[in-house]
Amino acid sequence: IRKELEKLKSEPSVSKDGRRVELGANIGTPKDVKGVLDNGGEGIGLYRTEFLYMNRDHMPSEEEQYEAYKEVLQKMEEKPVIIRTLDIGGDKELPYLNLPKELNPFLGYRAIRICLDQPEIFKVQLRALLRASVYGNLKIMYPMISSVEEVRAANEILQEVRGELDQKGIEYSKEIEVGIMVEIPATVVIGDMLIKEVDFFSIGTNDLIQYTTAVDRMNEKISHLYEPFHPAILRMIKMVIDHAHGGGKWAGMCGEMAGDPKIVPILLGLGLDEFSMSPISILQARKIIRGLSYSEMKKIAEKALNFPTAAEVKKFVAEEIDKIS
Ligand code: PEP
Ligand code: MG
Repeated sequence: IRKELEKLKSEPSVSKDGRRVELGANIGTPKDVKGVLDNGGEGIGLYRTEFLYMNRDHMPSEEEQYEAYKEVLQKMEEKPVIIRTLDIGGDKELPYLNLPKELNPFLGYRAIRICLDQPEIFKVQLRALLRASVYGNLKIMYPMISSVEEVRAANEILQEVRGELDQKGIEYSKEIEVGIMVEIPATVVIGDMLIKEVDFFSIGTNDLIQYTTAVDRMNEKISHLYEPFHPAILRMIKMVIDHAHGGGKWAGMCGEMAGDPKIVPILLGLGLDEFSMSPISILQARKIIRGLSYSEMKKIAEKALNFPTAAEVKKFVAEEIDKIS
């Protein structure tokens, strides 16, 4: 089967009726890029930069970050690379930051909240990103955005950093797209307003499922309640994509759902533009997409949104796909 999939390495990710999507990969370090290219990845949909900061006793320097971002951008040549700014807190700790012990770390001091509270940390990363941007097709993404104010504040800091580089005559790309992760229900609901502030959305379903259904993604006792096919989740995904398209922008997904063969057809039907997954899932997802018609999946996805339970959604989708393939 792997041999069969290998043939799709340089084929486009396009449906039978010509809808082209981008299949990218999630990575944690520059070393992961090889696996992305070996598996026919068309981009990086999520570079989790936390790993640069973890398992050490001090902050990575601007230079160290610059080298890592540059390496990824260069290796990916002109393919899009979405680098997510620091998403620490929640389950990911940084001992040297002296983060307070919290009762609810996933609802606490984390990610963009830390970066806006400690702009000196954020600015180092943004400087490294801007400097590296001349080596490829960089897109910057803020995690855990919950309001328009946060996007504006983050963009203001980014603008400040641009100004500082201008003053020093340091080059950076003028075409960097800036987007946000949509992983909090409030963010989904105000998507029509948020899209005016950014260039793209990327749906973080790992957290979106956790926050929407109040199911801790780390708690095994309730893992049976962690359900991507929950009707609320599917409806939220549709809202995010519709808000992005309504604003003339694009929507991607970088949560685990994006690479699930059972869900890829529905995501295609809902109009998702970019799928980012573990590198090993890319060729399989490409095969699925190339075997389906977007217009057919669109109708099926619309109907799927009207079933009251996850089990019924799953049964319906499986049966419909069986019929057409
Ligand atoms: C997500 O929440 O879906 C996501 C991609 O980010 P992380 O898993 O790093 O929280
Ligand atoms: Mg997340």
